[in-house]
Amino acid sequence: MLDYHLHLWPHHEHDTPLRLEQLSRYCEQAQAAGVTELALTEHLFRFRQADALLGGFWEHDGTAPTLAESMAEYWRFHARTDLDAYVACALEAKEAGLPLVIGLEVDYYEGRMDEVARLLEGYPFDVLLGSVHWVGGWRFDDLDDPVSMAEWPARDVDACWDAYTRAMEELAASGTCDVLAHPDLIKAAGYVPGAPAEWWDRIAEAAETSGMAAELSSSGWRKPVGEQYPAQGLLERFVARRVPLTTASDAHHLDHVAHRADDLRAVLASVGVDELRAFRARAPHAVPVAPPPAAGSGSRAAQRTGV
Ligand SMILES: [Zn+2]
Ligand SMILES: [Zn+2]
Repeated sequence: MLDYHLHLWPHHEHDTPLRLEQLSRYCEQAQAAGVTELALTEHLFRFRQADALLGGFWEHDGTAPTLAESMAEYWRFHARTDLDAYVACALEAKEAGLPLVIGLEVDYYEGRMDEVARLLEGYPFDVLLGSVHWVGGWRFDDLDDPVSMAEWPARDVDACWDAYTRAMEELAASGTCDVLAHPDLIKAAGYVPGAPAEWWDRIAEAAETSGMAAELSSSGWRKPVGEQYPAQGLLERFVARRVPLTTASDAHHLDHVAHRADDLRAVLASVGVDELRAFRARAPHAVPVAPPPAAGSGSRAAQRTGV
């Protein structure tokens, strides 16, 4: 098993120092849950280099003033850390023998992915997650932001899913990243169309055509929607198209590392998947879905913490 989506900081924190000790605790907890390899994948927008390149992207797409203001504040708060220091810390952990690879969670920026790829190309990344967290300047999954959440009842759910899917298609076609993170994140706040098959088909086709892997994530179980990403119907479409999978917790702190790894194993078994995709220097290789650790190892306790 993998935990290929891990953050260093909760969204309400910034300016927190990078510490090797935190990574070593992540690895210990993951290993207790039978997770053998981790990927550190902090958000690109946490870094000053991203702000310098992409800051203000929301100002040119007709975003409503309230949403633009909210996004500007969000960026000001988050973009504080040095990307070089982050990579150096992850490299140090890797060289110390911790079972982790170096990655980033890269958001989709319409028409800007070439610039993003150029920013990242000099770094020794093993894996890049691609995700869509906003449509235009609207952070549709920012459950803590009342301005963003007030949009949902005012919008047409099908149109939101359509705009999200278009962004995912463009992200996949850009070839900038290796894994589609939380592929149906648009459902996070609990707004799901009555018949989502059309969007599931398009997302699965985008993954297959691009050659990207797709992420099976436990973080949806912690959100209002209350189900894993991707939904079973989308997962079945990925499997039918032979899209490789990673597994992930999307933890933003220690309590969620390897969260519900056993339940993810059960989901994989339900669709007959016994192999995952891992990465080194952005080159893929297959790894087996290992059985859970022996009873009494403490894995259940680790997984159930802080649900
Ligand atoms: Zn994400
Ligand atoms: Zn994430």
